[in-house]
Amino acid sequence: MQHEDPVISSASAASATSARPRVALSLLALLVLAALIAAASWFGYRYTYDAALARQAERGQVQLRLYSQALDSELARYDYVPSLLSLDARIDALLHHPTDPTRVADANVYLAALNARAGTRVVYVLDAQGHVIATSNYQRPDSYLGEDLSFRPYFHTAIEGQLGRFYGVGTTRSESGYYLSAPLGDRDHPSGVAVVKIGLEPLENRWQGADSQMLLADENGVVILASDPSWKLAAIREIPPDLRARLDQTLQYNRAPLPTLALSTVRTFGTGPGPGGDALVMLRQGPPMLAQHASLPGTDWDLTLLTNTSQARVAALNSAALAGVLTAFVLLLAAAWNVRRRIVSERLAARHALEAANNELERKVAERTSDLSTANHQLHAEVAERIRTESFLRQAQDGLMQAGKLAAVGQMSAGVAHELNQPLAALRTLSGNACKFLERGDTATTRDNLEKIIALVERMGRITGALKSFARDPASGPRRCARLADAVDNALFLMETRVLANAPRIDRDIDAHLTVACDPNRLEQVLVNLIGNALDATARQSEPKLWLHAYESGGLVHLTVRDNGPGLSEEAFARLFEPFFTTKPAGEGLGLGLTLSAGILNDSGGTLTAINHPDGGACFTLALPRAIGNVARETAHGN
Ligand code: ADP
Repeated sequence: MQHEDPVISSASAASATSARPRVALSLLALLVLAALIAAASWFGYRYTYDAALARQAERGQVQLRLYSQALDSELARYDYVPSLLSLDARIDALLHHPTDPTRVADANVYLAALNARAGTRVVYVLDAQGHVIATSNYQRPDSYLGEDLSFRPYFHTAIEGQLGRFYGVGTTRSESGYYLSAPLGDRDHPSGVAVVKIGLEPLENRWQGADSQMLLADENGVVILASDPSWKLAAIREIPPDLRARLDQTLQYNRAPLPTLALSTVRTFGTGPGPGGDALVMLRQGPPMLAQHASLPGTDWDLTLLTNTSQARVAALNSAALAGVLTAFVLLLAAAWNVRRRIVSERLAARHALEAANNELERKVAERTSDLSTANHQLHAEVAERIRTESFLRQAQDGLMQAGKLAAVGQMSAGVAHELNQPLAALRTLSGNACKFLERGDTATTRDNLEKIIALVERMGRITGALKSFARDPASGPRRCARLADAVDNALFLMETRVLANAPRIDRDIDAHLTVACDPNRLEQVLVNLIGNALDATARQSEPKLWLHAYESGGLVHLTVRDNGPGLSEEAFARLFEPFFTTKPAGEGLGLGLTLSAGILNDSGGTLTAINHPDGGACFTLALPRAIGNVARETAHGN
């Protein structure tokens, strides 16, 4: 089962909580960037669109003016026709005799000729009651002749002595046209009305433009001319009910349904002339159009030019895209500059932090160095103290060794005294006998006694020499190598009295050539200790026995000193090399022998170990490095 590291998990939780506001900030920054780009695009779009629309409006004004002038001149072209009739004698005669067929026929012929010459649709004359008394289309089956047109507004205007202008749809053939009317006869009391109907279709044909639409609305807001035929007789604004009732009465549009044109104004500019100024309008389908108005002089008519704004829109979209891209580029540049600035400041901060860390490190290193040098000085002082203590200890050890040796000498002194007493007593007897034999002249016996005396003196000299050599402080003499067999011989010789007293069987196996790198005097001291302990241990044995075996292995020379005593007790094992540990009665043991022996051997690069032999008794093994080169045979009792 895996346990999540609490430190790691808490760290990751902390980083997660710090990452969340960072993500929110980034999102906010992105939103702000998007909003800025959108705003720039929107301003670019609006500015270009408005500028393009303004240019388009300027062009439109020119076009509108041209169309208006053309229309005005076209309509003005026929102004003279009704007035012309009042000058003609045939018409005048007809007005005076409206029922005279001859006059009617003359007038009809005249009107037909005039209609053909002027290029108008129909020319006709009404009497004061509004009946058609002569008409240019008298020959057609649907001729107006005899029709009562008194309900027509143009009649009313003219009969009141004014010039009438009227757009309407014919009641007979539902043909739309522009009616011009003028009073005939006396202006205050007209005897009739002259009417000319003009077709405006040629004008419409001239308006057919690719990108623009024209429409002409009359005083009622009804489209009477339009480049798009479907717009004709549609109302550009809602027709109020009372007007509609009046129109139904006058049959101006011959009961046409007059639907309202689906033109919704998006935006007005209010700069141009005409009602409402310039405006952006939407048709039921297609792109928004720029609507510009111009009122036709001398009429209540409104000429409207609708131009396509697609180009302006395309230009505006291009500008919007350009503005957006430019803004994005500028923002990107700003962001890159900001990132660069941050990186530079982070680098600076990192450098400062590094410098601070470096300074701190240097300070710590200096601190540590001073600590270390203080510790070093202390260490030097301690080492010097140790050396002093060691030399003091060595001196103490040497002193102890000497003391131990002297103790051994003390132990040996009884034996030595015994050894010396015997030859001394013999010397006394032999020298006394020698004197007596000399007096008797027995020189041979005297010589014999003297030779025995010499032998005894030599033996005594050897004993004192060995003691002197043993007791000598080795610190005063040079270090040497020792022949192991000689050292064993000397040790046994020194202990001869005790050996003879115990009379153990000694099993000795020591190669005469084995030499060890150790001071012989010190080696003898070790051997005296080991053999002395073995003699003590076997003192109570009925058949005491000692084994002295030497062998060489691994560059070391080993010597085992084994006895058949009781062996080492458990306590003795634990405290064997402890100074002053002894199981011997007071006065017999100091407890320094093994301690000093181990010290001597260690000094020479050797060791001292002890075991209880499986067959009983203690077995001590000393090991010393083998000496290189030959060692002169040297024994204490041999010199
Ligand atoms: P000392 O001989 O003065 O007692 P040592 O250091 O030589 O001092 O010996 C310490 C003790 O070790 C002895 O008192 C004795 O109990 C024990 N010991 C040493 N050698 C032997 C041995 N060969 N057999 C039994 N015990 C021994």
